[in-house]
Amino acid sequence: MPPDALLQASGIDAGYGTMQVLWGVDLDVRPGETVLLLGANGAGKTTFLKSLVGLIQARRGQIKLAGQDVTQTRSSDRMKLGMTYMSELAVFPDLSIEENIRVGAEALGHADPRARIEELYGVFPVLREKRRNPASSLSGGQRKMLGIAKALAADPKLLVMDEPSAGLSPLLVKEVLHVLADLRGRGLALLIAEQNISFLEIATRVFVLEGGHIRFSGTVAEMSDNESLRQAYFGLK
Ligand code: ATP
Repeated sequence: MPPDALLQASGIDAGYGTMQVLWGVDLDVRPGETVLLLGANGAGKTTFLKSLVGLIQARRGQIKLAGQDVTQTRSSDRMKLGMTYMSELAVFPDLSIEENIRVGAEALGHADPRARIEELYGVFPVLREKRRNPASSLSGGQRKMLGIAKALAADPKLLVMDEPSAGLSPLLVKEVLHVLADLRGRGLALLIAEQNISFLEIATRVFVLEGGHIRFSGTVAEMSDNESLRQAYFGLK
């Protein structure tokens, strides 16, 4: 493992019943890095993220977080070590905005997460304005911001996000990118699974997942130097 890796997954196999979805997946994230896991529908992105955060158990391979082997560690304990997961359906629609953020903060075990909540309202002022309203009353973009705030309430070192662009218009995707670039600027490490190539704008490194195998890993510049990837993902010859 690189000495400075925050997260290191090596040789991960995972699947459901008799179906194997992931085949020997290797991926690492260094502190403060923004890593993009790019792949089409069904490539296995969600399965990989779930095995990283402990929502499904990898069948083979090892996961290290901040130098600690967490392959057999339960999900809540992986969170306490600094890794938070934001799923596609990131919020509880019937809870208020503030209740959603509190649920996120509970993972920290803080008796009073008030200071953290105030800090998050500073980053997302619209959420303060609407804090007593149910999350279901928010627009798609605001709901995504709430999902991000809820995940950040746990004060992670690494935020693992599943398709933050899902269901958003291109304009709202730009807003999400803006927020993520700001978080990156604050030193948070991000691992983002996406099929939307606009996320290359904020990535430091890319892993391309195809049919449960890592087809490529490298920098964005290295990816665009690769002719077949360029054709497949940028539609360029
Ligand atoms: P998407 O963008 O559609 O979420 P993905 O890259 O995240 O795609 P996965 O959701 O990991 O892909 O799915 C990989 C494969 O595993 C697919 O063939 C999918 O049908 C299958 N799969 C996913 N979840 C389950 C499950 N709970 N039980 C059985 N098969 C599943």
